[in-house]
Amino acid sequence: MELHDSHAHILRLNIAGHPIEWLTWQEATTLYARELITWTLGDTIRKIHGGTSRMTGEQSCIELHSIVACAGELHHGQPKKPALSNRILFRRDQNLCMYCGKEFMDKDLSCDHIIPTSRGGSNTWVNVVAACRRCNHFKQDRTPEEAHMELLALPYEPNPAEYLALVNSKRIRADQMEFLKSQFSKNCRLQ
Ligand SMILES: [Zn+2]
Repeated sequence: MELHDSHAHILRLNIAGHPIEWLTWQEATTLYARELITWTLGDTIRKIHGGTSRMTGEQSCIELHSIVACAGELHHGQPKKPALSNRILFRRDQNLCMYCGKEFMDKDLSCDHIIPTSRGGSNTWVNVVAACRRCNHFKQDRTPEEAHMELLALPYEPNPAEYLALVNSKRIRADQMEFLKSQFSKNCRLQ
């Protein structure tokens, strides 16, 4: 087995070219072997050598590409709704407190509900921002207007391409990022 990029994940698309999920190379190999991959993009990141055919004497070889598209029926054909989590929220807001604008480590950030949940605010992407403990503590269960605090950027729900970029931010390949970026919305502050 030849290694090219052993840590890279493979970006799976549905047949329409919408990004769905990250696969390990093992998962992608299974899809290749079952001939479920319809088309590919990006570089070859691994070559997997299989058995030798008794008929022809040729050794089979699977080339794993960094982006693969599969027919819709299998697994989940539609992009999932991005689950709200602190980790992804802090990535979305680039580890900045959305009130004071300073940069913080994850452990020093918290999830602020713009309209507090105690006042009927929802626990959704469009009602939460990253906030440092100091700002969150100062705001308490008030709206930004009541607390005379201004949001530095409007919260948004990441679309599937943005979500996949946020989830895998450390290990994403340039060709995958290029592809995802073409589907980023204008809200998105990712580079
Ligand atoms: Zn702050």
